[in-house]
Amino acid sequence: MARSCPSAQPGMSDAVVLGVVETGADGRQRVAYVEAPVPLTPELAAIAAPASAGKVLRLAAKCAGGQCAHFDGHDCSLVKRVASMLPEAARKAPPCFLRRTCRWFTQEGVDACFRCEMIVTEFKPNPRLNAVAAPPEV
Ligand code: SF4
Repeated sequence: MARSCPSAQPGMSDAVVLGVVETGADGRQRVAYVEAPVPLTPELAAIAAPASAGKVLRLAAKCAGGQCAHFDGHDCSLVKRVASMLPEAARKAPPCFLRRTCRWFTQEGVDACFRCEMIVTEFKPNPRLNAVAAPPEV
């Protein structure tokens, strides 16, 4: 089965909206998942302007496999770091339309889902997230 990437880039041709980034009163960002995929069209991206789509939306797309810096030849190294380096953000997996094909869920199960909401494509830099986001050196 083809796998989906739950942390896609806005430039990917088949990108769909997975969720909307919200900022809580405590300043923490989290993703509010949408019920069904919405294609990221230029019109939709323009609504986010002047913010970039990657700042205000979480996107999903077909997993790029070996074309992605996080793919280690067999698995997605990004979700391995998410699951091992970040604390749980929730104790319940959120309702998510992507789960059936999600590479992160396939690899790490609900441990990925428990942390997924705190992943923002263009995040406010902090040492822990910087380390999680850094692809392995080749
Ligand atoms: S890790 Fe879980 S919550 Fe996140 S996109 Fe995949 S299935 Fe959805």
